[in-house]
Amino acid sequence: MFTVFIVGTAGSGKTTLVSAFAEWLENNQYDVALVNLDPAVEYVPYVPDIDIRDVVSARELMRKYKLGPNGSIIAAIDMLAVRAQEIKSQIMDIGANYVLIDTPGQMELFAFRSVGSVLINRLSVDRSAAVFVIDATQAQTPSGYVSSMLLALSTQFRFNLSQVNVLNKIDLLDKPVIDEILEWSEETDLLKEALLSDQVNKLEADLSVRLSDVLTAVGTLSRPIPISARTGEGLDALYRVLHNIYVGGSDYD
Ligand code: GDP
Ligand code: MG
Repeated sequence: MFTVFIVGTAGSGKTTLVSAFAEWLENNQYDVALVNLDPAVEYVPYVPDIDIRDVVSARELMRKYKLGPNGSIIAAIDMLAVRAQEIKSQIMDIGANYVLIDTPGQMELFAFRSVGSVLINRLSVDRSAAVFVIDATQAQTPSGYVSSMLLALSTQFRFNLSQVNVLNKIDLLDKPVIDEILEWSEETDLLKEALLSDQVNKLEADLSVRLSDVLTAVGTLSRPIPISARTGEGLDALYRVLHNIYVGGSDYD
């Protein structure tokens, strides 16, 4: 059993990716179990095998405890952590090869609270990995790229899992723009050049240059895999990288 947590900023395409990648895996003869951990999501385009909204609903918590939207999500995730063991045995009972776990829309309420790591530890069955979803439309400016990669890095540190970064929504960008983003991940000098040529916000550009040095110094971030959860492009490449983690070492290039 391989548990894959799909994380990323709100609207980056986590839920769409879970749906598309599940379909891809099923077409390739894998048994897939789908888990929705977002207590506040209104609509999911797949049929979850386990749905956290059946256990705790953010909407209900809002009503019952007079909480705001964020407060109710926080409360729901905390309640979930208490019942993690139960959810884990439900996952194990399904007995699928791949378990895809869709995480709450607003990642800061999950990834950046200690309960997020607790949940990840408790729900991991056998091997596990994280897929960090970057919205390509956000990462197409040099400073947007740097902040996306910093988020990817902090998630990697927090979860301490093998992490694959994907650049999602490439169907919305022209090929040269995608290529440029990918070049930034390989050549820090190109990234710096791009940052410095951004005359609009000098302060942000200067800060981003320093941050890009941090990214390079840490050096554990891998080149993001360009994908589109909408068209399915790149899902085969994502599969190959995940499969390598599943069957063996956690490193890939
Ligand atoms: P989540 O909050 O990370 O779960 O994001 P969702 O999966 O709900 O997607 C947010 C929005 O982005 C939705 O309108 C999706 O249809 C759209 N979206 C997700 N992936 C893609 C993609 O690869 N291409 C395009 N064009 N839109 C996408
Ligand atoms: Mg979602």
